[in-house]
Amino acid sequence: MSASTPNLETTCPYCGVGCGVSAKLRDDSIIAVSGDKTHPANYGALCVKGSALHETMGDHGRLFYPSVNGQRVDWDTALDTVAKRLHEVREQHGPGAIAFYLSGQLLTEDYYVANKLAKGFIGTGNVDTNSRLCMSSAVASYKRAFGADAVPCSYEDLDHCDLLILVGSNAAWTHPVLYRRMATAKKRNPTMRVVVIDPRRTASCDLADLHLPINPGADGYLFVGLLAWLQQTGASRSEYIAQHTEGYLEALEAANAISFAETARLVGLETDVLETFYQWFSETDKTITFYSQGINQSSSGTDKGNAIINCHLATGRIGKIGAGPFSITGQPNAMGGREVGGLANQLAAHMDYNPGDLRTVADFWATDQLCQQPGMKAVDLFDAVADGGIKAIWIMATNPVVSMPDANRVREALQRCETVIVSDCVAATDTTATADILLPATGWGEKNGTVTNSERRISRQRALIKPVGEAKDDWWIMTQVAQRLGFSEAFPYQSARDVFVEHAALSGFRNNGKRIFNISGLSELSEQQYNDLSPIQWPITTESPAGTARLFSEGGFVTASGKARFIAIAPRPPVQLLSAAYPYALNTGRIRDQWHTMTRTARAQRLLNHIDAPFVLVHPETARTNALHDGDLAEVSTAHGAVRVGVILDEGMGENQLFVPIHWNDQFARQARVCSVIAPLTDPVSGQPEFKFTPAAMKKVATPVWAMVVSREPLECNEFIDWSMTPLTDNKGYCYRFAATEGFDWQAFIRQQGYTGNCAQYSDTEHRDERFICYEGALVQMAIFSHHSLSLMPATSWLQGLLSREITSSPWQLLAGIDMNQPDRGKLICACFEVGEKQILAAIVDGANSTKALGEQLNCGTNCGSCIPELNKLINETLNVDAA
Ligand code: SF4
Repeated sequence: MSASTPNLETTCPYCGVGCGVSAKLRDDSIIAVSGDKTHPANYGALCVKGSALHETMGDHGRLFYPSVNGQRVDWDTALDTVAKRLHEVREQHGPGAIAFYLSGQLLTEDYYVANKLAKGFIGTGNVDTNSRLCMSSAVASYKRAFGADAVPCSYEDLDHCDLLILVGSNAAWTHPVLYRRMATAKKRNPTMRVVVIDPRRTASCDLADLHLPINPGADGYLFVGLLAWLQQTGASRSEYIAQHTEGYLEALEAANAISFAETARLVGLETDVLETFYQWFSETDKTITFYSQGINQSSSGTDKGNAIINCHLATGRIGKIGAGPFSITGQPNAMGGREVGGLANQLAAHMDYNPGDLRTVADFWATDQLCQQPGMKAVDLFDAVADGGIKAIWIMATNPVVSMPDANRVREALQRCETVIVSDCVAATDTTATADILLPATGWGEKNGTVTNSERRISRQRALIKPVGEAKDDWWIMTQVAQRLGFSEAFPYQSARDVFVEHAALSGFRNNGKRIFNISGLSELSEQQYNDLSPIQWPITTESPAGTARLFSEGGFVTASGKARFIAIAPRPPVQLLSAAYPYALNTGRIRDQWHTMTRTARAQRLLNHIDAPFVLVHPETARTNALHDGDLAEVSTAHGAVRVGVILDEGMGENQLFVPIHWNDQFARQARVCSVIAPLTDPVSGQPEFKFTPAAMKKVATPVWAMVVSREPLECNEFIDWSMTPLTDNKGYCYRFAATEGFDWQAFIRQQGYTGNCAQYSDTEHRDERFICYEGALVQMAIFSHHSLSLMPATSWLQGLLSREITSSPWQLLAGIDMNQPDRGKLICACFEVGEKQILAAIVDGANSTKALGEQLNCGTNCGSCIPELNKLINETLNVDAA
């Protein structure tokens, strides 16, 4: 028997909650994970994505070796080539012709070295990050209000608040562990109220005492109106305002420009509903406003953030237990990127492009090459690639061909660019396809360093297993390139710890309390201390060696006056308005079980069994108007392009709204990169794109024939009207959903795939029902079930299981599409215990009328709890129908 090693603590690589993970290893493999019970972010809880981390490991699909122009090379050749190309571009076109595009998936150490190399020594400010797409508006609004990018709250404030306002956040799906924490707090404190502000009714409404389905993009009006209300009703705190803030009268004057009745009209709420919300805010001291991409991803996201902060400043609800404006980051290390200056308009260690800060950074790094001006933000940066101003770009750990707005233009730009260097741990992505130089990077479980979560807590992400192939850490790769460029003295790093302590030292260098980001208390860590570092919240200084839970409890803002700044806001609608040609507001976002562009989460089959294909959520009335039904294929188009997605009817949507998830890309579907249809319109302060509101049209795509296909090998999909694919666990094969033309020749298709073995076939042409089982010996190689109706296909779970089992009797039995031993569970609801919708509905009908009863009977909802909102929805829908 193999010896097992003890559990090892690390951090989840997905969202900004930053959960601690205990990993179990065997034979240099991560064989199981569980929540780290000691980690203050999650105290042992994990959501379904975190729980499946070990299922995403393995060599399959990884990038193993460096390559240049498609040819495998050794590391020395790759690094020499990178250094040579960067040197040539810098010599011929100047440092500004070089760009770096980084990622909130990088560790802080990687981020630090990238910024130092680019800004400090190559001398280009054109360094931006995918965090620009996620939370740069939150950064900008914090800086405007507090003088620093400083989140004042802690997660424990969620345990103590009496009013929780979720705005622009479907936390139940995007930050599930925090959502469970909110649910627990509400259970413990029955007087706690939850308000969800969202144009659509999401899973997070399961917790809501009040749901405000405001008009899309109207959040700014709502909070500006609240500021006026607080003053008019005497709820603002004049002594706090006088002592700790400035600019109140100007902000109030702007707020008073819109009447209460007009605000109600603009946000689309009845006045009594709006009054209820305002009244609850007025009367509740312990109020948290919890916000995320729904606020940030807007052409006025910075103003919206400040409109929220204004209301907290007016009531003095900042830095208090259970109170504050709490922006939550999407990515695991967006905050770490902010610390090292990952955004183009920042210098390292929260410093800015002003003469004093420039001198401080240049002196600390001992460089005379420090760029003197902010660089281009993401949208402008890729425009410059398209226009030829940028000649070389180095992209790390991100997939801009999927995630940037107007993503087709980004792809064309990269295809035209002279030198595209991509460092990634995954071989085939829409972005690696554009690379001239590919560099294999270590992935989660292999790389070593730190991340900072949404509450400023720095945690270790530890290297637990050996890297696959020749993969290397990003900080190491850049250090080697820096040395080849002649900067060896400034880049002497031998370990991630060497980088971290320098980063920590810079945060304290000439700080004297001017910069709130200060982790100089960690600048003397030894290798052992760094390895053992426990999660800790910054600032960490000699005065606060154990970290700091809350900021600004006694005021003390980091503006010139020491006072927080109110910002006068004139709210505005989205840039593009709905029209006869584009009558629907297209919203984009994330789903429960997937992360980013699916490069990791799509490796765990059970994470795709909840939702396995790209879709658009549509209100039933909107669908009826467009002659669409549940399951139809729709084309959603905007002025920038179109995607093809399956229709899901959802009464929680407004009638003029559509929602399409961001995850699917060309690796998993024919035409579902939704960011390719988003206009590159940005917030003027933060540069963050408006992903949440794009005018769109929708029409049905004819699908004469549907097919579900499993195959051990990837299939050629070009000739289909539409396709989507889910990989099967343990690299067993692939499951496809095809939409095909009338009379599609499946036998020719089987031959085209190179298959020449046995094939059993059933055909009922009248109903366009064709089935094929291709097998060798007792093993199925490929199975095709084709029909005019998608609803008449065999269950996906049964289909997926075909490649794992031997044919025990006749393949003809399989053609019937029925296996008595594998009942159809329906759509997977609980991914932890693999419990399907049909099982749950049957249990509810049999009397399990609560999530507790369902959990006792089926186990569903008893592990991570991510599915509890859906369980409640099924219970309510079933019991209400029965009662009707
Ligand atoms: Fe990971 Fe889920 Fe925790 Fe986010 S909430 S850090 S995805 S386990």
